[in-house]
Amino acid sequence: MNKSKSIWMNGQLIPWDSANVHVMSHALHYGTSIFEGVRSYKTKDGRAIFRLDAHMKRFCESAKMYRIPLEQTQEELMQGCRDTIADNNLYNAYIRPLTFYGAGSLGVVPSADVPVETIIVAFEWGNYLGEEGMTKGIDVCVSSWSRTTSASIPVLAKAGGHYLNAMLIGGEARRHGYVEGISVTDKGTISEGSAENVFLIRDGVIYTPPLASAILGGITRASVMTLAKTMGLEVVEQALPRELMYTADEMFLTGTAAEVTPVRSVDGIEVGCGSRGPITEKLQSAFFGLFDGSTEDQWGWLDAVPVA
Ligand code: PMP
Repeated sequence: MNKSKSIWMNGQLIPWDSANVHVMSHALHYGTSIFEGVRSYKTKDGRAIFRLDAHMKRFCESAKMYRIPLEQTQEELMQGCRDTIADNNLYNAYIRPLTFYGAGSLGVVPSADVPVETIIVAFEWGNYLGEEGMTKGIDVCVSSWSRTTSASIPVLAKAGGHYLNAMLIGGEARRHGYVEGISVTDKGTISEGSAENVFLIRDGVIYTPPLASAILGGITRASVMTLAKTMGLEVVEQALPRELMYTADEMFLTGTAAEVTPVRSVDGIEVGCGSRGPITEKLQSAFFGLFDGSTEDQWGWLDAVPVA
């Protein structure tokens, strides 16, 4: 990770090395945190944060689902993200807002003496699943771990503890030589990658699992669906049996970190022609076109962070 100069902590920008927590922090013991992953880009009109509004709305909703009282409004947190990017003079960066229960009593249900702390960190960042994968496609496998469902946790929340399941899914895949693992639900339908949503293409139609398939409501997922519809492509949200991945013409993953990453094989079975498919390539260039200006941002997705 590239260390930056400052971190926003509880409303103030402080030096990176001063943003510390105590070992008695509740979140360290029980995973009681909610967070976001947001990206900023160097665009043709200066730097901008991609869909900051949608990300911080989801952040506030994650807090609501876990009844974590936020001390800042969504707008204040959005400004905190802009200030962190500006203060560190970042362009192509990853932004991590995080709210967690800090140090206090150790009861599982946080008592009144347990503070709610919020930080926003930003640092320079490139491709998550590798440069080569963006053009050639990546190899994935179906995980032996199924996705935790809404019967146990609010899957739509982006919460710290949920990522133990994601760590098992992603870690198992990487140990076996794959770039990513795809989880299925308890019903055997496709859920998502450890930190990405899944898309399949068959006979020119784009398919993706619905929210009820234990997925995070990805903001890149929603953006790609909008871009696809704008391009006149049909997008269908429906429960998808695992085996459709083996017979799809094309497959790709979306996420803030992964952006739009093609998949070339699943469990060693080639997807389509075994490389990036033509519709995936079109969607990928429409997505990256938002930043180089070749795709018009008709939705106001780019939140400018002017240079002071
Ligand atoms: N699913 C999970 C579990 C994730 O962690 C992420 C990354 N936030 C995604 C999907 C993709 O969501 P987004 O496009 O909003 O980054």
